Amino acid sequence: MSHSSLQETLDVLQTRGFRLTKARRVILEALIQAGGHLSADDLAAQVHENNANIGRMTVYRTLELLGQLGVVRPIYQGTGAAHYVFLHEGHHHHLVCTNCHQVIEFDDCTLDTVAEMVCGRFSFQLQGHLLELYGLCTSCQA
Ligand SMILES: [Zn+2]
Ligand SMILES: [Zn+2]
Ligand SMILES: [Zn+2]
Repeated sequence: MSHSSLQETLDVLQTRGFRLTKARRVILEALIQAGGHLSADDLAAQVHENNANIGRMTVYRTLELLGQLGVVRPIYQGTGAAHYVFLHEGHHHHLVCTNCHQVIEFDDCTLDTVAEMVCGRFSFQLQGHLLELYGLCTSCQA
C-alpha cells in the first residue's frame, strides 16, 4: 500500500508538471510511512528528526501543494489541528464512533455514480471525496 501511495503521488506530480524536490520526497515518504493521519506539526517534527534542514514552512507548503493536487485532504476533528489523510485514487472513508472516537477505515465505496451525477449538475470537476459515517461501534452499542 505504501509503495502504491508513493507511486500514485509521483505520477500525479509528474503529470501536473511539478518537480519532485528532495524535500518534497522526504516529506511525502514520512507521511506515507506514518500512513497519513498526521497534523502538519507532527509531520514537520518527524521530518526534522532526520532532515534538520527541512523547515516547518516547507512541510506546510508541500501539504498545501499535495492538497491542491488532490493527493491529501485535511480532516478537522474537534478543536485540534487538522490531520492529513491520503486520497487513494480519490477516495478516503471512515466510520467514526461518536462515543469512543474510534476510527475504522474502509475501502469499498459505491459513491462514484452519485458523485459524478452531482458534479455533472454543477459542472464541478471532481478530484476526490472524503466520507465519514458517524455512529456507534459494536462495543459502544452495548
Ligand atoms: Zn469512495
Ligand atoms: Zn465506540
Ligand atoms: Zn483514514
